[in-house]
Amino acid sequence: MNNNLQIYNTLSRTKEKFEPLNPPHVGMYVCGPTVYGDAHLGHARPAITFDIVFRYLMHLGYKVRYVRNITDVGHLENDADEGEDKIAKKARLDSLEPMEIVKHFTDRYHKNMDQLNVLHPSIEPTASGHIIEQIELIKSIFEKGYAYESEGSVYFDVKKYSKDYDYGKLSGRKIEDLLENTRALAGQDEKKNSYDFALWKKTDPKHLMHWPSPWSEGYPGWHLECSAMGAKYLGDTFDIHGGGMDLLFPHHESEIAQSNACRGHDPVKYWMHNNMITIDGQKMGKSLNNFITLDEFFSGNQEALDCSYSPMTIRFFILQAHYRSTVDFSNEALHAAEKGMQKLFNTIEVLGKLKASETSSIDIKPFKASLYEAMDDDFNTPITISYLFELSKIINQVNDGKETLMDADIKGVKDLFAVFVFDILGLISEVDDNSNDQLVDQLMGTILILRQDAKQNKDWATADRIRDELGKINIKIKDTKDGAEWSID
Ligand code: ZN
Repeated sequence: MNNNLQIYNTLSRTKEKFEPLNPPHVGMYVCGPTVYGDAHLGHARPAITFDIVFRYLMHLGYKVRYVRNITDVGHLENDADEGEDKIAKKARLDSLEPMEIVKHFTDRYHKNMDQLNVLHPSIEPTASGHIIEQIELIKSIFEKGYAYESEGSVYFDVKKYSKDYDYGKLSGRKIEDLLENTRALAGQDEKKNSYDFALWKKTDPKHLMHWPSPWSEGYPGWHLECSAMGAKYLGDTFDIHGGGMDLLFPHHESEIAQSNACRGHDPVKYWMHNNMITIDGQKMGKSLNNFITLDEFFSGNQEALDCSYSPMTIRFFILQAHYRSTVDFSNEALHAAEKGMQKLFNTIEVLGKLKASETSSIDIKPFKASLYEAMDDDFNTPITISYLFELSKIINQVNDGKETLMDADIKGVKDLFAVFVFDILGLISEVDDNSNDQLVDQLMGTILILRQDAKQNKDWATADRIRDELGKINIKIKDTKDGAEWSID
């Protein structure tokens, strides 16, 4: 098994050689979406980042159990302990059951992830499906003395914990600074200290989701679900925990604290965090009004967009940056990504009909090692892509008769493209879409012939019905002197 992989560990702030706890098995947990709205670029980035990790580890021969959760309860509006539950609020506003909201947006999330060719995780647990495990976890944190009850809610005693352990080791925050920064916040009377976080919240009368517990009718704190589900499916200590950098604090910091509090050790060996997507240098988010959903990218229906962008363009755009760098969105950058990706797929087409020579005028052997080195260097997809572009250039030169490659070398390049473009980067050719277009052309031709027949038979009702039904799916029929034309509105 190839074992040159180096992973940047947020915990140690260095690249470390990847040595799984129990090879060839690898346990990986990634924080999934809170399902109360449509997925946007900010959802696509962690999903694609850890899809690459998942794909590459499997390519290296590891048996990966990849757990990505769905947060369907407990995530409050300000990501801390204030405000309303995000899903319950949406349910209240729309007069729906919270689980209707969860089902609707989980389905839409899955559809978007399939469009982006993100592989399904091995297990996709939900917070609401693991209330018992979360209550058990709270009980054991209580037993160890790091939790306290207040007005029916349970909080994690950060001050007490930080006497025994290092609260802030992941995010680099110091408890003294937290004390300074949060002391002034009002409305936190239930807590001993403002930076204590909720393990269990007593139900507010307007909260729609609640379960019985030893402390009150209520619901678990947001940080708890990942500790409970990570341990349940991957064990008390597992290899990789991933998520966006915005989850580093307080979410992941609190996961480490919860694990130490009840088990006396850290839960995870390698912490990985993808950086954020910015729009004109600002973090993308609903609050900043620069929020573009994936469906809007795919349809082009958004005023900030010049045109529609295919799912693979979005995927390629994200992979052109290293996952620890920010990605700044712009139409220009997306157009460039689209062009770049097309170049790779054109090369694959050229490779299919390239003529072999007796000898090779150029040595392509070092490329294989370079491509693996790039991926082994903390999943450096932009460098990987740049080597594929170099290979692309060579293939075009061979095609133009400026260089030569013998049969074995052409086969070697084909294999590299198949492995790196399709298997590891997870790109799929969108040429299939063109064949779908052809099919639509043929189908429309048939429909228009049937309509023409109806008109000749003076069956105006059928002719009109065909026009109206097509109109409902935005296909416009225009009668001409030779027959009819159609267009998509
Ligand atoms: Zn999480």
